[in-house]
Amino acid sequence: MLDVSKLSVRFGELKALDRVSFAVDPDKILAITGPSGAGKTTIFQLLSGLISPDSGQISLGHEDMTFLESKHRNIAYMFESYALYPHLTVFENIASPLKSPLYQDKYQNIKIEEAVKNVLSLTEMSDFEERFPSELSGGQKQRVALCRLLIQKPKLFLLDEPISHLDAKLRHKMRGEIRRRQIKTGVPTIWCTPDALEALSVGDTVLVIDQGTVQQIGTPSEIFLNPVNTTVAKLVGDPPMNIVEGYFKRSGSSTAFFSGSKVLNLNSNQKNNLKEMNLELGKKYLLGLRPTELAVCSVGSKKKAFVGKAYTIETFGKYSIVTVTFDEEFVKIKVTVNLPIKIGQEVGITISATKLTLFDRDTGSVLKH
Ligand code: ADP
Ligand code: MG
Repeated sequence: MLDVSKLSVRFGELKALDRVSFAVDPDKILAITGPSGAGKTTIFQLLSGLISPDSGQISLGHEDMTFLESKHRNIAYMFESYALYPHLTVFENIASPLKSPLYQDKYQNIKIEEAVKNVLSLTEMSDFEERFPSELSGGQKQRVALCRLLIQKPKLFLLDEPISHLDAKLRHKMRGEIRRRQIKTGVPTIWCTPDALEALSVGDTVLVIDQGTVQQIGTPSEIFLNPVNTTVAKLVGDPPMNIVEGYFKRSGSSTAFFSGSKVLNLNSNQKNNLKEMNLELGKKYLLGLRPTELAVCSVGSKKKAFVGKAYTIETFGKYSIVTVTFDEEFVKIKVTVNLPIKIGQEVGITISATKLTLFDRDTGSVLKH
């Protein structure tokens, strides 16, 4: 098992990682997701020994390896930049780790050939084994780097954005195939990606990082259904949750949510739901609305929560994403039926959520029910 405790590192003034802790069991995949520059690759550089932390500890199988030399760590690392050997063919690149002293006893040439052919076939690269890296496209180079990783039997696997340059069909296939293989190896795997949905689909556990700080660690469904703050909520989802700023005000006998000059009409379920949360009237909050929990209706409909103007309409066949402007806020709605909406048209919007998500406006933290 890999155990990482309170790792911190600075690059000059920049706190690249601040007390990052996590653990990965053998036969499990930890997916790390966060925007570009969040600190994902820095974690890998520390784990592989390319750089040393300012503080914190890394142990693998109860052995402290925080300052162990890189070559003694036995880690398979797929670099974001591939790092292929330009003078070696695809086949030789992939076979290269098996020819290191680490594997000398375990592999004869015949086994190496079998292993290389196996990963080439998995990644649909069998026709390219004699080519040199300069004769490959970006996505093909990435698959060679992936093959070179998959072929190893290390103590830890590190995959830095391993499928980012593949076409959608292959990316889809690889997510499942790599996950299946990695779990069988019985070796902990860490998979980094800025694509939060990819992280949810490949990880047993997902770690969300932003600006060098861990935001949340949880199962894919915990991360998706219960984001702990607006940073996680804005990253996860397809599209992610809408966050609308507003405040609660008495309106007649009940309470309503005001965003700017507009009021969101909440149904009685939603209002009851909010009652449990001890909200302060007049104080600003952030209300999270999932695109799947919103729907478009006619402007005159009694069911509508508010009225907005269609800003963009993206049609994906089975569903469409309608972006609506509403008092200077943009709200995305995922609709499954093809509605004859035109850009600029006024539309009514209903909120079907039974459990509303509210965040503190200053800290961004989710408020507990
Ligand atoms: P990610 O992989 O999540 O995109 P990185 O871990 O590569 O992010 O980078 C995290 C932050 O650290 C970024 O702001 C990046 O510019 C900075 N950084 C990374 N490596 C160095 C370095 N060697 N020197 C200075 N700053 C660095
Ligand atoms: Mg990176």
